Amino acid sequence: MKYSSLAFVVLAAACTTSPPPSQVEFTPGTAWVMEGAGWAEEAEAVYTEATEYILAEAAQRPAKSWAVVLDLDETVMNNVQYQVERETIGESYTSESWYDWTQRKEATLVPGVEAFLNAVNEAGGFVAFVTNRSDSEQLATEENLAALGLTRHDDFRILLTRARPDGANKKDARYDIVPGMLAAQGYENVEVIAYLGDNVGDKPETPGEWTFFCIDQGAMYGEACAAVPGPGL
Ligand SMILES: [Mg+2]
Repeated sequence: MKYSSLAFVVLAAACTTSPPPSQVEFTPGTAWVMEGAGWAEEAEAVYTEATEYILAEAAQRPAKSWAVVLDLDETVMNNVQYQVERETIGESYTSESWYDWTQRKEATLVPGVEAFLNAVNEAGGFVAFVTNRSDSEQLATEENLAALGLTRHDDFRILLTRARPDGANKKDARYDIVPGMLAAQGYENVEVIAYLGDNVGDKPETPGEWTFFCIDQGAMYGEACAAVPGPGL
């Protein structure tokens, strides 16, 4: 009896203890983003390209007449740590575990985004974030962003989450009201000239006079916009 109890304890411990991350076989996208090198270079290259684009546009436009709209997760905020933790215990995304992750406020910045946002603000543009994070996660999201040096007013003017559990996934209705929200704040006739995201839904469904810039996140989440997710362009 004594020995069988001991065996049970050992067995139970073996079942509940996660392997160290070094022994986990991560999905290719997670491994790529976690390792960082090629992923960071690609993200920085996209933000450099986007910066060149907005500076050229800004040279032809009055200040405060244009804006850029960015997705948050895997575009501004890097959540690979969440994915690493899920895969380490053999689990994938759940809304509950995601909520817990957002409340920790531990996302980091996607390389290149801070310089891009500074360039937009210095060149006279507005920054709006449109995210599918839940409204229940908005406060922690803003606090996470602030801890990363991105604050409302100084760095962005709008942050639109979505309602859950039955709020709309698609962002078009929220894209539509960005100029109206800026007008209500005193900035009329603002045109959105660029969308930046990691998913195909991070831009309006209907083409318009804007340019889309795709951040490659290795196809960790959603429907990736990258033609070849992960290493390679
Ligand atoms: Mg995203």
